Order: sequence, then C-alpha cells, then structure tokens
Amino acid sequence: MKSKLPLLLLCLAAALHAEVKAIKNFVLIDGTGRAAVPNSAMLVDNGRIAWIGPASRLSAPSGAETIDLQGKYVMPGMIGLHVHLGVTQGLTQDAKFFTPENVEKNLKTYASYGVTSVVSMGTDKDSIFPMRDRQRATGRPSETRIFTAGQGFVFKGGYGGVPGINQGIATVAEVEPAVAAQAAKHVDLIKLWMDDHLGTQKKMPYDMAKAIIESAHKHHLRVAAHIFYLEDAKRLVDYGIDGLAHSVRDKPVDQELIASMKRHGTWQMAATLSREASMFVYAQTPAFLKDPFFTCCVSADVVHTLSSAAYREKISSDPHFQHYPEYLKTAQENLKKLVDSGVHYGFGTDAGPPSRFPGYFEHWELELMVEAGLTPAQAIAGATRNAAQFLGAKDLGTLEKSKWADMIVLDRNPLEDIKNSRTIHAVYIAGNRVK
Ligand SMILES: [Zn+2]
Repeated sequence: MKSKLPLLLLCLAAALHAEVKAIKNFVLIDGTGRAAVPNSAMLVDNGRIAWIGPASRLSAPSGAETIDLQGKYVMPGMIGLHVHLGVTQGLTQDAKFFTPENVEKNLKTYASYGVTSVVSMGTDKDSIFPMRDRQRATGRPSETRIFTAGQGFVFKGGYGGVPGINQGIATVAEVEPAVAAQAAKHVDLIKLWMDDHLGTQKKMPYDMAKAIIESAHKHHLRVAAHIFYLEDAKRLVDYGIDGLAHSVRDKPVDQELIASMKRHGTWQMAATLSREASMFVYAQTPAFLKDPFFTCCVSADVVHTLSSAAYREKISSDPHFQHYPEYLKTAQENLKKLVDSGVHYGFGTDAGPPSRFPGYFEHWELELMVEAGLTPAQAIAGATRNAAQFLGAKDLGTLEKSKWADMIVLDRNPLEDIKNSRTIHAVYIAGNRVK
C-alpha cells in the first residue's frame, strides 16, 4: 500500500496536467505563407501544438476536450514588435502610471484583440522584469506575452523616452556601463532614439549611437532604433543596427539604403503606419470612434474627449499638422518598396502612448499595410512568422508542431479582406482561451 502511494500521486498529477484539446474543422492559415488549408485540425497538449493536419486524420486521445470550429478560420496570434506598456491612463502619459496593474490591463486588452505577444520598446520600469519572468517560467500566461527593451537609450536632454523612466546618456563614455546594466536585467533587446522631432529637439550624436550598437552586440543583444530621417537610417544600418522601429518618413527610401539593409540583414522591424495616421486622424472625428470593435475596449470618457471639437482643434493646431498625411504616405510607399525588394519586415504600431490604442491599432496597422500595397498574406506574415523570427522566438509565430498554440479564431477569412482580422471569435494563448 505504502509503495503504491507515489504512483497514485503521479497518476493524479498526470491526470490534472493531461490537458489535451482536439480542435477541428477549421480553415488553417498557419502563418508560414502557404495557402489556407480547409478542414484542418490540431491537437494541443499542455499548450503546445502536438499534431496539426487534416481533420480526417485527427486521432484524439480519450478524455481530450473537443472543440469544433466548423466554418471558422484560425491564424497565429499577432506579435506587436513596437508598443509601450503601462505608461498611459486616459489620454495622459506619465511615468507614474507605470505599475504592474496598468501593464496587466494593457496585456489583457492586447490579448482580447488577438495580439498575443508584444515588445515594449524602451519605456519600462524594472517591475516589467519579474512579470515577464513569471510568464516565461511556465510559458503559459493568461495574458499577452511580454518582451521588453527595458529602459531605452535617449541622448541627455534630447528626443525620446518617458521622463522619469529614461535617464538620458550625456557622453559616449557612459554607454558601455549603461548597456551592461540593461544586459544584467536580461532585456530582450536594446532600443535607442535617433530623432530631433522635426528640428525641435537635440538628436543623439552618431558616435553615441554607434557605441550603443557595438556595446549591445558585445552583450549579444540586438538593437532597434526609433528613426525618422533617411540619412539617420543609413548611418545606423551601416553601424549594424538590427531593426528600424519606424518607417523612414522624410524621403523615399533609395537603392543605397535598400542594398545596405539587405547586405547587413537589417529589419524594417515595424512600419508604425497607424502611429502616423494617429497624428492627424482625430482632426476629423474618425468613424472608428463609433465602431464597437474600438469602443469595447476604450473608456467612454476617452471616446467622448476624442470626439470633441476641442480635441479636433488641438490636433489640427499642431504646427506640423499639414505634413502628417505626407509622412504616412511616404511610410506606406517605403514599406511597399522595402518588402518588394526583399528586405526583412515585421509588424508594429507604436501603440500605448495617448490616442494610440492597444489592440485596435494592430488591426488598423494590418489594414494600412494592405492599403500600402502588401497582400493580406504578406501583412499577416509580418505580424506572425516574421515578427517571431525577428525576436528569435522559435516557439511562436506560426501554427506548426511543437509551437505554442497562440492563435486567433475568426468568423471570416482575413486573406480575402484584411478587415476580417476583426471578426474575432476567440483568442488562445498557449492553448488557453482568453477571457
Ligand atoms: Zn515607440
């Protein structure tokens, strides 16, 4: 009797953990770029895809939970490579809002929109690290997976970051210890800001950016940069930057940049087209302020403010207002040119700061990518397989055997109309349905 107790406990433990889901009869969009596959099925065992194939060959173990998705479409969860977690409440950004509770709130919002992983781009307090590490301990968080660039690099007194979170670097000599400090926190990548905010602020000197890139690489960390100008993009690509976290927006990208990005393997990590659109769209109350897909997840107060004449006036009185539509157009043309040229591209919105809404913006970004000339399949690949590839996240990005079952179940086919990405029936993270 005594000797059987451990065995009994083992069986009991196995029964508690044996959690197999047999999901069947859906159209599979697996994120690898291959055509959609009707009548598909998968077995999900403890959050990972144990088998995936034709529903006719599904062989579910007894006791498996069966989920019939007849008529539905299943695609990988989206991976947003450029967001800012936790820094905003209502329409105000402030370091003091960065709390685990506010981060958690954002993560739940992203999850409900099918954005199952995000990269917070350099404006996180240190409380992000234990949150991320708890998620990674099991691999099965109940909310969106966190990747973080910790505290990104801002030139002291210059453009970028969030006051109270980003310290500012004054000299090249400060770079190495500051990068080492981020590396010691196990950031997922390093972020730097290279911009003068349309000539209104100090820009990081090139030698400082070069030092950050070299130091990060010494610490085996990849580096992504906020950029605006073509010239800065060229310099950073030459220095070995790994990803451009925004589109070039002042000029068309040229052959010199394209050739250099291809030679260096540089990524257009995020095009942030929805960010560009957000700079002018509120000057005329946009239709989405009445869209339930938007209002579901934004406070009524915020919707009210965004719909007000005072807000429209505030947006249109920005001294650079008239240029913002051009920047979006340039960004879209540049994305199309880079993708056509075979430059690696990912997906990101820069959502999180005021008026840039977690989740909704990711779906809008897909739409703007398609408007730029990408096919829906190309836009989805950017947001799934490619984004995971940029992160080196081998368990994410596509729906294939052994990967985490992070996925979106849709009522309609997003390959036919990208706006169908919004017809969300359910979202799963590691095989668990998001509430
Ligand atoms: Zn950003």
